Amino acid sequence: MATLATNEPKIDADDVLAGIVEWVSIESPSHDARSVNKVVDHVEGQFRDLGLKLDRTPGVDGFGDILECKTPPEWSTGEGKGILVLAHLDTVHPIGMIEKDLKVRREGDSIFGPGIYDMKAGGYIAYYALRHLIRQGKKTRLPVTFLFIPEEEVGSPTSRARIEEAARGHKYALVMEPGRDGDKVVTSRKGVGRFTLKVKGAASHAGVRHEDGRSAIAEMARQIVRIEAKTDYARGITCNVGLVTGGTGINVVPAECTAEVDLRVPSQQLAEEMTHWFLNLEPIGKEVELTVIGEMNRPPYQKDAGIAALFEKAQTIYREIGKELADVPLTGGGSDGNFTAALGIPTLDGLGADGKGAHAAYEQIYYSSLVPRTYLCTRLLETLE
Ligand SMILES: [Zn+2]
Repeated sequence: MATLATNEPKIDADDVLAGIVEWVSIESPSHDARSVNKVVDHVEGQFRDLGLKLDRTPGVDGFGDILECKTPPEWSTGEGKGILVLAHLDTVHPIGMIEKDLKVRREGDSIFGPGIYDMKAGGYIAYYALRHLIRQGKKTRLPVTFLFIPEEEVGSPTSRARIEEAARGHKYALVMEPGRDGDKVVTSRKGVGRFTLKVKGAASHAGVRHEDGRSAIAEMARQIVRIEAKTDYARGITCNVGLVTGGTGINVVPAECTAEVDLRVPSQQLAEEMTHWFLNLEPIGKEVELTVIGEMNRPPYQKDAGIAALFEKAQTIYREIGKELADVPLTGGGSDGNFTAALGIPTLDGLGADGKGAHAAYEQIYYSSLVPRTYLCTRLLETLE
């Protein structure tokens, strides 16, 4: 039996945690480009020190910068299309959460902090994994590209095209979003659509000339009932009317009403079917106008043969440390993995730390998941070919 030389570097949970805490301590809400760029600066410095080739693209539309880090050609034994590692550096938490509910602290196996679970732990684990290979003097078989995204939490509006372009140039995508429920990763996600309905009616005095009015709110209410009725848990379709605005005064028949709908679907076929349904909605009442705009903003991420094979490789690696890796049933939450999977790139997601409370005031990771998850990522980078 081979024994480890005493100076052989090991994955050290405290070391991994210390690095994660550094990233978490720089708060970075999606809409605050300056703050997001502070964490981008930190990550850029770390990858520069490792010796990767960096490409930082200035942010647009009030978002932070996109950071790409590539391993130099001599670090891999193979060439051609490589591994794309995706992580986002923004969080949903406003500045100051770190001094309130989400003080960085450890309670037993849990470590709390803003964005620690979703997904600074995952991003740091990927960095540590590559650094660990370098420290061991090992090479990867394929070149590796890390892409850090500044605004995933608002749907990646300014980075989607860049993610898709990167995906087309790679053989695999590893997405460092939070792990799930013990030793689980993500191999499929629903697609996400967003639709806005606007109704135009006619305003009138609610007391004097009620009969002349055409209530936009009454029309929208009927539309909402029709939309909500399209939710079909058996087929995996959900429609949520999450925002409604309308009316100008309590004594005025309302001339305008707007509603915004979140749609989730498990397959491309249902995405097309439901998009067509939404865009062809007609008014129910008389003498009102209805307009609908919207589209799928994240395509469905379906577990195909390539994804199943990649997942099996991950399972084999996990067995090296005596653990069994599983995948979660189809999840409704989208990620940048939806973009890469929809392009047919084998995508494995949910590779970050295990924990709970994404987006919540009790967001936390589990210390016990750090070594297994870092091991998994290290060996994926090392062995994928
Ligand atoms: Zn996330």
